[in-house]
Amino acid sequence: MKRPWWSSGVRFACQASCGRCCDEPGGIVYLAAADAERIAEHEGLTVQDWLARDARTTHDGRYVLKSRESDGVCIHLNAKKQCDIYNVRPQQCKAFPWWSENLATQRSWQETKDRCPGIEAEDALLIDGATVRLHMFADRVSTKGFRTWPPKRSFWNR
Ligand code: SF4
Repeated sequence: MKRPWWSSGVRFACQASCGRCCDEPGGIVYLAAADAERIAEHEGLTVQDWLARDARTTHDGRYVLKSRESDGVCIHLNAKKQCDIYNVRPQQCKAFPWWSENLATQRSWQETKDRCPGIEAEDALLIDGATVRLHMFADRVSTKGFRTWPPKRSFWNR
């Protein structure tokens, strides 16, 4: 089988106070069950109460983070363009820019690069293929998501 173009690694470093990947009106952050548990604990709430306060469901019932009504941007992106729950942020956020849709072709990667100044930045580090693959898997788990709490146990929600 042909190795993916990114298998020998890709250069990237998240840029301080950039926030470009979060600052997108209408952007959707799918939640994994582990995200809900971790963030609810950080907020001192039960998972049910946190979901009721900070999440909504998509048309097919998956939980996603709420966006601000004023501009459609994630509720956690603060005025300094920083994530106010950075240390416990959803794994889909953590997995950016290593989403399957971004890595699918060199062309889609170029489009991602146009939006993300961290890709091949001067201070970028080589992120190896195995690490990229782990992030892609985390993104897939999040996109699969969950529709009930507690979630139905499956390969994706363990
Ligand atoms: S939770 Fe944090 S990292 Fe994720 S989109 Fe919102 S501001 Fe960005």
